[in-house]
Amino acid sequence: MAITEKITSTTVPTFWEGEIPVRYVYTYGIAGERFFRAVKEKGTFLATRCEDCDITFVPPKAFCDRCFEKLDDYIDVGTTGYVETFTISFRNMDGSEKRHPRILAMVRIEGTDGGLIHYLEGIDWEEIAIGMPVRAVFKPKAQRKGSIEDIVGFGPVE
Ligand SMILES: [Zn+2]
Repeated sequence: MAITEKITSTTVPTFWEGEIPVRYVYTYGIAGERFFRAVKEKGTFLATRCEDCDITFVPPKAFCDRCFEKLDDYIDVGTTGYVETFTISFRNMDGSEKRHPRILAMVRIEGTDGGLIHYLEGIDWEEIAIGMPVRAVFKPKAQRKGSIEDIVGFGPVE
């Protein structure tokens, strides 16, 4: 099959199988480094704020994406928030049924304009609701590596 082959039907995908080796190093950047260091060492979330635009960024940004102001005041915004939206996964990647459905949510961090997408843990999928308050659950400090995986998920606020 040549790459110049004309596709005559949009309902039959043209493809060939193969592998593309990809090697990369992903850096968090200045603001991401501060954010994940706080997650690892303190079990909390940091934000940056643009006073001119009245926006509090979580995860923090080094520059405001509206006015391009440099942002270098990092504030601790804690670990509670609320479910802004969510989806529930009942199937595994191979199509088989999951033993326990997983809930993936966008959690808006309290008092900020940002948030994180992560799993909800310890909340029954039939009870989840938009606006539900949640709190981040972290791995024990000794097991944290400074990554998103240091967060087990978001659980109910007691
Ligand atoms: Zn701004």
